[in-house]
Amino acid sequence: MAILGGMHCPFCQNTDTKVIDTRISDDGHSIRRRRECPSCGRRFTTLETTTLLVMKRSGNIEPFERDKVISGVRKACQGRPINEDDLKALGQRVEEDLRSRGLAQVRSEDVGKAILGPLRDLDEVAYLRFASVYKNFEGLEDFQKAIDGLRAERG
Ligand SMILES: [Zn+2]
Repeated sequence: MAILGGMHCPFCQNTDTKVIDTRISDDGHSIRRRRECPSCGRRFTTLETTTLLVMKRSGNIEPFERDKVISGVRKACQGRPINEDDLKALGQRVEEDLRSRGLAQVRSEDVGKAILGPLRDLDEVAYLRFASVYKNFEGLEDFQKAIDGLRAERG
């Protein structure tokens, strides 16, 4: 199973193929790529399994799990108009963001940061709650800064 380069065309054995579409499976454990051979013009699909690793603040390394992202965000979303589909979509955006960096391992801070943007788009109150935990808000000033940031984003 080749991931980087050397993906041969199964029809003409040309070694250079072009990725035309990339999808991550629902469970997040595999990547399906639609490829096209520039030589013979035929298309085929490859399935690549990769595990994205997350290094915790403690130094422990564990596999990335989209469900953990979702359960972390769910707490911040209590009582907000956010449904399971919203959470699933957010989990997918976070994973795609992290995987698009092309690294085998990210830090847990990177996961937190990757959550902030999509969560802000989803719900500002949930975003503030999540940010207050993730960024260790210590008082009203921290909230004020975050709120000022949201206002600035709105222009
Ligand atoms: Zn070919």
